[in-house]
Amino acid sequence: MNIPSKKERISVTIEMDQTWRYASGDAMERFAGGLKERRIEGLKCGSCERRYLPPRPVCGKCNERLTDWVPVADTGELVAWTVMKLPMLDGRTGEIREAPYGMGLILLDGADTTLNHYLVESDPEKLAIGQRVKAVWRDELRGAMDDILHFEVIS
Ligand SMILES: [Zn+2]
Repeated sequence: MNIPSKKERISVTIEMDQTWRYASGDAMERFAGGLKERRIEGLKCGSCERRYLPPRPVCGKCNERLTDWVPVADTGELVAWTVMKLPMLDGRTGEIREAPYGMGLILLDGADTTLNHYLVESDPEKLAIGQRVKAVWRDELRGAMDDILHFEVIS
């Protein structure tokens, strides 16, 4: 049996034909409406005070129904990142996103949960956990997650 060494890479080609459908619900409807006005809002738990972004209807820790909307900035901290080296279907636009591109988990100022989004930077040498980032908004807002095109490093 020929077992590849740890240094050899294994390449597997997978083709996917998948339709994406999302049910937004009341919380995401308000959230998307805010994006159309360049406003980011999260939902805060009245019990544990955790601020969810994107907003969700129920606290994952307390099971409390969330109704307390709180403002969230379009700046924050990069808490994790990766650089994608393969083109992928962008679930937000339905279009292929060419590689390489950066992806990050971003803790926006005013939120306690992270947002998964694209990064302008795709050079691993220029990305680091703890960097400050800022949203880059689309010129014509339409009330969708891709109103924020990506995040850029600001420090
Ligand atoms: Zn809670």
